[in-house]
Amino acid sequence: MRIVFLGPPGSGKGTQAQVIARSLGIPQISTGDLLREAADKGTPAGTKAQEYMERGALVPDSIVIELVREAISNGDQFILDGFPRTLEQATTLDDVLEEMNLALDAVISIDVPLDSLVERLSGRLTCPECNAIYHTSYNPPRQKGLCDTCGEDLYQRADDTPGAITHRFEIYKKQTTPLIQYYKDKGTLITLDGTRSIDEISAEVGGIITRLEKDHGVQRSYPSR
Ligand code: AMP
Repeated sequence: MRIVFLGPPGSGKGTQAQVIARSLGIPQISTGDLLREAADKGTPAGTKAQEYMERGALVPDSIVIELVREAISNGDQFILDGFPRTLEQATTLDDVLEEMNLALDAVISIDVPLDSLVERLSGRLTCPECNAIYHTSYNPPRQKGLCDTCGEDLYQRADDTPGAITHRFEIYKKQTTPLIQYYKDKGTLITLDGTRSIDEISAEVGGIITRLEKDHGVQRSYPSR
């Protein structure tokens, strides 16, 4: 299965990508996570990327595309989260997949009005170890401030600040929303109402995957979380 999750910052695409990748037992490739890891390690690409990420700007395509190319070369199934974010990235992804004789099964776009997302982003907490995502009100960890899975101290991302959030929304509107039409034209776009609970959306994503697998002749059913 090869799926792309599309949606504005805070739409829940990372959470849904994690849930479905775990259910399917295939990698979730989050360019945000890959870039943060590279920045933490202090690699040249990571150090350069960090300057852009802190401002809420897009990291140059040359860096991001290289990371994705490497990540998808390890297997023919994946869930992409946060990539592509520009038309150029989308066409490059098409070319890379074509070289591998592969294609995307679906692009799942999580639709949420931007004005409801500031609260979601400012309450978001992330695990530095496993990248699990929580929210202080909507999806709190069992023990305050600690990851349910690894027990690590959760942190608030440096780009979940009001200034960076505004900039990320502007970039999303300008650079990423054209992808909705791009994938609509290709017939791979599936749009979900992202204003519902995590479990409701997961159930719908599970149904979509089951339908896609049926088309591929695979039969399974998915637990939601
Ligand atoms: P995310 O974790 O998906 O919210 O991404 C965090 C930040 O990483 C973004 O605000 C960008 O600075 C950078 N980033 C992630 N994915 C991409 C991408 N596909 N293209 C450019 N920059 C990206």
